[in-house]
Amino acid sequence: MSSRNTKYAVHWLTGQFCEYRMESVYRRLIKTRARFESRLSLILVSLIFGMFAITDYNLLGLTREYYLLITMRIVVVSLCLLLAFTIGRWGNYFRKIWLHALPLWILATGIILIVPLRPESLATQVTAVVVATMAFYLLIPNLLTVVTFASLYLSVGFLTSAVLFADISPVVALRLALLLIMTNAVGFCALLRLESLQRRQFALLQEERAQNHHLLKEIALRKDLEAQLRMLAERDALTGLDSRSHFMKRAKALLQRSRMEKKPFSLFMIDVDHFKSINDTWGHIHGDWVLTKIAEACAQSLRPTDVIGRFGGEEFMVALPDTGPDDAQIVAERLQKMVAELPLKEEMSGMRLSVTIGIALANTEDADLESLIMRADQILYVGKRDGRNRVVMCREGMEEG
Ligand code: GH3
Ligand code: MG
Ligand code: MG
Repeated sequence: MSSRNTKYAVHWLTGQFCEYRMESVYRRLIKTRARFESRLSLILVSLIFGMFAITDYNLLGLTREYYLLITMRIVVVSLCLLLAFTIGRWGNYFRKIWLHALPLWILATGIILIVPLRPESLATQVTAVVVATMAFYLLIPNLLTVVTFASLYLSVGFLTSAVLFADISPVVALRLALLLIMTNAVGFCALLRLESLQRRQFALLQEERAQNHHLLKEIALRKDLEAQLRMLAERDALTGLDSRSHFMKRAKALLQRSRMEKKPFSLFMIDVDHFKSINDTWGHIHGDWVLTKIAEACAQSLRPTDVIGRFGGEEFMVALPDTGPDDAQIVAERLQKMVAELPLKEEMSGMRLSVTIGIALANTEDADLESLIMRADQILYVGKRDGRNRVVMCREGMEEG
């Protein structure tokens, strides 16, 4: 048997969960309903019990037995109504199970006491006992063990009373005993089935809830992983700028929009000058640090609407929507200056950091991003050839210094 099955196992004889904790959870869950149903059924049963006073009067008239009977009925009904009120207010289907059991014992005692006072109407009383037993088992909410003992008390008490006061023959007593055994057996099996079914249903619900909870956790975990994967795919690990593929995606969208809105669009290709010698002189760690500083400078000097990406080792790309040649020149020169003035580490004080920026302008209607990048790359090469540390611009395939 798996641990999950053991947890939700229901005892074959009591109809309760084998595990104490599960039983307590279940009973706590149903306590409000049990309280309400107990109160309602007790009021109903006690009123019916009281109404039998009418038949008592028909049978006995205003005799001493009638007064005794009516007193007994008033006491039983009053106690039951008091208990209905008490259970309704303070009933606890888990801790105060005795409180729920008490009305059964009071009703059973009342029914047993009718026999010596009205022995001649035993036949009617047998029917009443059968109905009362069924009500014990199925109408008033109680645990199977509680009901079984109260019903057995009613059956044994009634049979004893019948033998002692109604003067019945042994055969009739045997027939009565068999009838009560059968009533108890039917009631017991019905309640056992009901209790087991309700708890199994509850167990299924709990299992489903646990699975749902697990599923929700799994979904959250997957979403988190998805976000992490997206981050890995979209961000450059060293600089935090857009990765090459993500930059391409965003820049393409910006270019398309600029074209639709008939607005200018510029593209920068930035390459760090003599970066290899930085690596060679101060090592790769310092080289990496320089790259992050340049990335920061790019992010600071550009507008939030511009898209910046790391294109390769020491190359960066910037897509600038709504930016014509004059603005592009100004922005690029500002960036060039910012890089040149970047505060460096103490040990790198002798280093002169510079970038060459190639600008391509999307003035032609048919220019796509790839051809724009190609032009920026070509003009960058011209800038490198002409001495580096400069901004060079290319307009519609024409190169300019
Ligand atoms: P130029 O002025 O012509 O651009 O010369 P350069 O030295 O900058 O260009 P080159 O292409 O010769 O060298 C680029 C160097 O960048 C080579 C490579 O080892 C280094 N590099 C590429 N990616 C990284 C990186 O992520 N970190 C570091 N520290 N170095 C890198
Ligand atoms: Mg390069
Ligand atoms: Mg370089």
